[in-house]
Amino acid sequence: MGSDVYAWLEERLATLRRAGWQRQSLTLSGRPGPVVLAGSQRLVNFASNDYLGLAADPRLIAAATEALNCWGTGGTGSRLLSGERPVHTELEAALAQWKQTEAALVFSSGYAANVGTVAALVGQRDLVLMDAYSHASLRKGAQLSGATTLTYDHLDFTHLEKLLEHHRCTHRRGLILTDSVFSMDGDVCPLPGLLDLAERYACMVLVDEAHGTGVFGSQGAGVATSQGCGGRPLIQVGTLSKALGSQGGYVAGSQTLIDYLRHRASAWVYSTSLAPAAAAAALAGVQLAQSEPQRRQTLWDRTHHLHQQLQHTFPARLLPSASHILCLKLTNPEQALEIAPQLQAQGILAAVVRPPTVPTSRIRLSLMATHRPEHLQALMSTLQSVLPQP
Ligand SMILES: *Cc1c(COP(=O)(O)O)cnc(C)c1O
Repeated sequence: MGSDVYAWLEERLATLRRAGWQRQSLTLSGRPGPVVLAGSQRLVNFASNDYLGLAADPRLIAAATEALNCWGTGGTGSRLLSGERPVHTELEAALAQWKQTEAALVFSSGYAANVGTVAALVGQRDLVLMDAYSHASLRKGAQLSGATTLTYDHLDFTHLEKLLEHHRCTHRRGLILTDSVFSMDGDVCPLPGLLDLAERYACMVLVDEAHGTGVFGSQGAGVATSQGCGGRPLIQVGTLSKALGSQGGYVAGSQTLIDYLRHRASAWVYSTSLAPAAAAAALAGVQLAQSEPQRRQTLWDRTHHLHQQLQHTFPARLLPSASHILCLKLTNPEQALEIAPQLQAQGILAAVVRPPTVPTSRIRLSLMATHRPEHLQALMSTLQSVLPQP
């Protein structure tokens, strides 16, 4: 018949294009920072996760360079076989100390840490309850685990409790999943209330600190510690690739949890160790995030300043946020499609996010400690010129 078994790929792509869901990437050159280069165009960058400005810090670069010279480029094997270097265990000790947990384990990405941990903790007889706005990697981990997975309305603990009442007793283990700072909104989960509920219904809790680590708390250890939950039974997952300026992910918790994951998290056991240079840069990042709190202070100063300005200029568009991630609601996906190129033409790089990634279209702005007041001014004047008042 000569039928092409791959023909459906082109058909699916055509459907995506018709729906206006095709995605494009932008290639940047030069080092990361508040101003980046796309070809010859300078863009003021409000789309970076390098919150503390560490990704181009000479000390991280030096740490990675030294590690490259010392151990070469590749991990060369899984941690259990031939992939472990002293820098891996040093980094894990530093993370555990920072997070006030007994132990930590590093993965090759935050995505792998989430998928690997969730899938290792629950199975078919178990129940996963997940905030509706949880990160895709948590969703994927739950799906892979085979556990019954239910979603509760965003930050709605009354809904969560209703689901627990109905479903908890018919399942073996229970696991609640949430982001600490929600990546597409910038609002923050009140963890003490969630942990109380989890305790009453005998559930484990995993909190994804991808956007909280380095940013929240006097030491930058994240939302869990800043909300006084560091000592509570909690699984903290996060990334080394955002505020810490490197690459990789981690899980922090009890020694027993970490020992278990070292045996059962297949994304860790069957994957090559984190590249030593990435581990070394992350270790320098963890140290600087603690020893230079002024970076965090500047990030929060910039955040409060921009939040106030947006509140004043676009009161009806600003979504609730308690973090350095600020979003402006757009009227519809069509407006999002129009505005994205206008922002870029005016020298602003910002994420314009549409359904199905988020429930409503928005401009997502993330701040960095390295933004200067003039960068925020440029952003505000561009937003005023491209964004009609609703
Ligand atoms: C970025 C992100 C991850 C994934 O981390 P990577 O290290 O980039 O793989 C996981 N969870 C959340 C909430 C994130 O924003």
